Amino acid sequence: KKRNPGQDEFVQAVTEVAEDIFGFMADKVKYHEAQILRRIAEPDRVISFRVCWEDDKGNIRVQRGWRVQNNNSIGPYKGGIRFHPSVTESVLKFLAFEQTFKNALTGLPMGGGKGGSNFNPKGKSVNEIMRFCQSFMTELYRHIGADVDVPAGDIGVGGREIGFMFGQYKRITNNFTGVLTGKGLEWGGSLIRTEATGYGAVYFLQNMLKTKGDSLEGKTAVISGSGNVATHAAEKIVALGGKVLTLSDSEGFVHDPDGITQEKIDWVKEHKTHRRGRISDYAKEFKGASFHGGGARPWGVACDVALPCATQNELNGEEAKTLLKNGCIAVSEGANMPTDLDGVHIFKAAKILYAPGKASNAGGVAVSGLEMSQNSARISWKEADLQQQLLDIMEGIHSRCLEYGSDGKGYTDYVKGANIAGFKKVADSMLAYGVV
Ligand code: NDP
Repeated sequence: KKRNPGQDEFVQAVTEVAEDIFGFMADKVKYHEAQILRRIAEPDRVISFRVCWEDDKGNIRVQRGWRVQNNNSIGPYKGGIRFHPSVTESVLKFLAFEQTFKNALTGLPMGGGKGGSNFNPKGKSVNEIMRFCQSFMTELYRHIGADVDVPAGDIGVGGREIGFMFGQYKRITNNFTGVLTGKGLEWGGSLIRTEATGYGAVYFLQNMLKTKGDSLEGKTAVISGSGNVATHAAEKIVALGGKVLTLSDSEGFVHDPDGITQEKIDWVKEHKTHRRGRISDYAKEFKGASFHGGGARPWGVACDVALPCATQNELNGEEAKTLLKNGCIAVSEGANMPTDLDGVHIFKAAKILYAPGKASNAGGVAVSGLEMSQNSARISWKEADLQQQLLDIMEGIHSRCLEYGSDGKGYTDYVKGANIAGFKKVADSMLAYGVV
């Protein structure tokens, strides 16, 4: 806290990891002596820059952009770019820190980074968004590269924004390389990248349920968010025989007791992504559904499984208790750090199946890693091969969590498992490099 004043999200993320790592390191002097945890919790560098752009009325607007390069011990920095008014240096530092462990868990050679801006894309015209993305890349391009740092999308940054940024990178450098992931299929993107995070979070959930001899068939699911991760998680739950009851956005949530079917999910995707609409419109479109406004969150709706897929700290201790009281048996995080520390402690104490985002939402960055491989080799893999690789990678992450998180008596602390497995790989690489 003293080293990072005012950076609450970052301190929260480091605290959560430290709780597990201290126990793991207790009898391992080499990590202590080398101050490894302190070194991982100090980003390699934080780049902050001005992003100046002109709106449609000719006004000059000034925003702040960042790239946090946390750790490149096991591969080039890798992590998304977020455009949202809530973005601060603290938020990006927490995300880059978490990303370091997540990327290590995938088994692929990727370091951890994150970037973004406090720019609010809501209500902006396509031209304004394009000018902003171009200006953002005009500074960012000098800090990234296919073997240096490979950003991707995140909240507020989808295929369209990646296109604007990649176009500007290419224009400035005259290089067509895999410097960004989440690209369009015609220009170096990978099949199933869009679906990978949401699908992966559900595969992870499936793996957890399997340890109890259970499955998603007939289970009710409460999901928050209605963006990329939430809609694809919903799609996979439905495909595996579950029933999705809710979706949300920053204004509130919709509850559809009849279930949010594939047809309805397609409507949400079209509405949120292409029409840039609000989730409240869902209740006007589909009979039987209700909208709960004022920023309400869906955790009070009774369910078997929950998937927080919107943003950080969207599920607190009280809400965790409510989920448990209503019979929720498993939580798989699609978002990054959606459950606050209180909530994490409550899920852990109740010994339910609880997967932290760094394990369960790693499917997206894993397929980004596969996009990098395809770009380097200048080839495109088939969809069936990628689907299988995603399934295998999520299974691999799950077994790494079991290795370090299982108590041998039927309970797995997935938070501990993910933290230790991710930490060990990065820490051992750092030890090999000496004091750098
Ligand atoms: P999108 O921008 O596609 O969707 C974000 C969703 O979350 C929207 O429904 C948005 O609502 C809602 N949301 C955003 N901020 C808030 C807030 N402060 N309060 C309540 N709701 C909010 O982003 P993604 O689906 O890509 O990302 C969602 C989460 O998943 C993030 O935590 C991200 O870091 C994480 N993630 C994403 C990956 C990916 O591949 N895309 C990979 C791994 C993790 P509204 O429209 O009102 O803003």
